[in-house]
Order: sequence, then structure tokens, then C-alpha cells
Amino acid sequence: AKNAGRNTLRFYDPRMQAVVAARAQLEADMRAGLAEGQFELYYQPKVAHGSIQGAEALLRWRHPERGFVPPSEFIALAEDCGLILQLGQWVLQSACKQLAQWSGDEQLGALSVAVNVSPRQFHEGGFVAEVLQAIAGSGADARRLRLELTEGMLLQDVEDTIAKMVKLRGYGVGFSLDDFGTGYSSLAYLKRLPLHELKIDQSFVRDVLTDPNDAAIARTIVALGTSLGLQVTAEGVETEAQRAFLEKSGCHVWQGYLLAPPLPRERFEALVRERAAP
Ligand code: C2E
Ligand code: CA
Ligand code: CA
Ligand code: CA
Repeated sequence: AKNAGRNTLRFYDPRMQAVVAARAQLEADMRAGLAEGQFELYYQPKVAHGSIQGAEALLRWRHPERGFVPPSEFIALAEDCGLILQLGQWVLQSACKQLAQWSGDEQLGALSVAVNVSPRQFHEGGFVAEVLQAIAGSGADARRLRLELTEGMLLQDVEDTIAKMVKLRGYGVGFSLDDFGTGYSSLAYLKRLPLHELKIDQSFVRDVLTDPNDAAIARTIVALGTSLGLQVTAEGVETEAQRAFLEKSGCHVWQGYLLAPPLPRERFEALVRERAAP
């Protein structure tokens, strides 16, 4: 009885209520923001052997009063309340429209665009149909679309996961394993998944020059990925010294502030043109 009383008290704790109310408000704001076009995709260049090979699309939310709200503050909530399904669909459609718009262009038409997929989006609803609709609806070239998945979501239902990936691979869609090394990775599954790419998590890249463990992990991921025939991409490369270390370790593809943060579309396009100019 004492415990129940304490729980009841805690439920009416004004701070708890404030947290619940704030979440409900943010959820309502996200719903409205989606309807009112407050979300935008930014593009971070991915460099392969010195030239821009593609971009990762990253979601940005401009809230009318709060200003810029980073993904770290709304993706998890969107995942909890299910709004990630609509948000994720919007991201897929927008990225495919962008691919289609770039397709005629000499420089931009050669780029791939990677989209982050949330666990719920991947496992619920008709994910495969949703991706195929985004491609068909926009006229994008499926071979230029990359989907970034995380380790945890691949282990949830391995057979179903592989079936979905194989179906989309059949249309040319590529798959990256994001944040590699931070979750549960089963090397046995890794071999079975139709992946294109492993992305070394930025937590290993950050101290690659000063922490021998991070250096060993980075080198091991490069060796593992390479031997499986996968592209290995380093994320969060901020310094020339980090880039040089990775290059020496056999990793020739990277993203990071060293070249550019995620950029609004126009600035990304300008950067690609500038780098392509003789
Ligand atoms: P992520 O997929 O691992 O994305 C990389 C994050 O690292 C991005 O943060 C990017 O801005 C940041 N970053 C890039 N280069 C550097 C660097 O050199 N140094 C440092 N310190 N950071 C760098 P962002 O844009 O805040 O996104 C955070 C996370 O939110 C993403 O992590 C991803 O998990 C999620 N996210 C973003 N957009 C989407 C989306 O459209 N759908 C889903 N489901 N998740 C998304
Ligand atoms: Ca990513
Ligand atoms: Ca990542
Ligand atoms: Ca991450």
C-alpha cells in the first residue's frame, strides 16, 4: 500500500507532469510541422578517393518559435509515438525527388543519396512498398538510393530483414550499416546481409590518433569490411590527421566537418560544382 501510494504520488509529481506535457506538445508540434513544411533535408557530402561520391540526407526541423530543433531531440520521440512512420516516408519521398531532380545534371546526376531508416519504419507497415513508391513516384534511379540501417534493427527478425533487403536490392537499392561497432554485430549475419557499405561510427574516429583501442577498432572494421567486399566509410572526420590515418589504414571513403557539415541543398550543390570545376 505504501509503495502504491508512492507511485501514485510520483505520477502526480508536477515535474513528471511537465515532462509528459512537454512531450505531448513536441509531438503535436511535429505533426503540425510536417503538415506545414517545417522539415527540410540537409546534405552532407561523402568523399571517395578525393571526390564527392554522394550525400547523406539528414533531417532538419525549423520550429516557428523554438527555432532549429536537432534530430537528437525529436527522432526518438517520433519513434516512440509512431510519427516516425510519416516522417520517414516524407524523408524517403523528398530524397527520391532530389535524386530525380539531380539526375539530368552532369555532376549532381552521378551522386548517390543515403537516407537514414528508423527501426520502426523498417519493421512496421509496408516498408518495401513505401520505398518502391517513393522511387516510382519521383522517377529516381533506384541504384542511386542508399538506405542506412543500424545493427540492432537487423537482428530483430533476421529472415524478414534479409527478405526485405533482397527485394529492394533487386531494384538496385543499396544498403549501409550505420554506426558500425556500437551495437550488437553478429559476424555470422553480416555475411548474409546484402550490404554495400559499413560506416565506422564517429565515436571511434574521434580519438583514432590518441586512443590505441579506437585505432585498433577502426583498422579492424576496415579489414573486416574490405575482406567482405564492402565499402568502408568513416564518419565524423574532422581533421586532416584523422583522414590521413584512415587512408593509411585502407579507408578511402569518409564524411565529416573536414570537408563540410550537412548543408542546405543549394549550398551542397554549389560545393559539388565548385569541386568539379577544373
Ligand atoms: P547519423 O546517421 O550517425 O548521422 C551522423 C551525424 O553526425 C549527423 O548528426 C551529422 O550532422 C553529424 N556529423 C557529421 N559530420 C560530423 C563531424 O565531422 N563531427 C561531428 N561531431 N559530427 C558530425 P545529426 O544530423 O544531428 O543527426 C543525428 C542522428 O539523427 C543521425 O545520426 C541519425 O541517427 C538521426 N537522423 C538524422 N536524420 C534522420 C532521418 O531522416 N531519419 C532517421 N530515422 N534518423 C535521422
Ligand atoms: Ca547515418
Ligand atoms: Ca552514423
Ligand atoms: Ca549516430
